[in-house]
Amino acid sequence: MNYINIHTHSFSNDPETVQLLNVFPEEQDKLKLPCYYSVGLHPWYVKEDTWKGALEIVRLVSSVDRVLAIGETGLDKAVNVPMQTQQEVFEEQLHIAETTRKALVIHCVRSYSEMLAYRKKSDQSIPWIFHWFNSNEQTARELIRKNCFLSFGHMLFKEPSKAYQVIRNIPADTIFLETDDAGISIRQIYQQAALIRNIHPDALKSQILDNFARCFKIT
Ligand SMILES: [Zn+2]
Repeated sequence: MNYINIHTHSFSNDPETVQLLNVFPEEQDKLKLPCYYSVGLHPWYVKEDTWKGALEIVRLVSSVDRVLAIGETGLDKAVNVPMQTQQEVFEEQLHIAETTRKALVIHCVRSYSEMLAYRKKSDQSIPWIFHWFNSNEQTARELIRKNCFLSFGHMLFKEPSKAYQVIRNIPADTIFLETDDAGISIRQIYQQAALIRNIHPDALKSQILDNFARCFKIT
């Protein structure tokens, strides 16, 4: 039974891991690697003079079969990129996801109310995956009600974190796990998540495989 790593920046050779490798527009070489991908422009790297060209690349490769999602894309109030530009770039990628019927992998820092507003207006049959979810339970439940998935990573090793609290209480069919760029293996993250939820790691693996199949309509 496979592990699913829903968001990572480095390819793993582990034969038991199915991964969604993040590819930035300037990293098209990664599209040769034998795995699934998400392709998108991250809010940290939005530059006034290059973002339109970067989105052209996202648009072009979005039709590749193994590109399962657009992203990571989103909003981040902790970086020095004007919010209006971030929103414009996010809206473009939301549009690409909706026209290609692909999921979105979302990076969201201190912008959950904006994201909820976008979600209310968007096509809710397109799944959104909030990667590195680390907000409160009320926000988690509002997103879940709108057909979103939440993905958790190394914050699960920090017991006072919101992620640690939230993953205990949300429905199992809304959860993904990820390594992102942390130096922790996906196996360790599964172990920790199973421990927190007090279930057998195999039950968690099976549930997340189901979630993956449902989210991407892949069996
Ligand atoms: Zn990432």
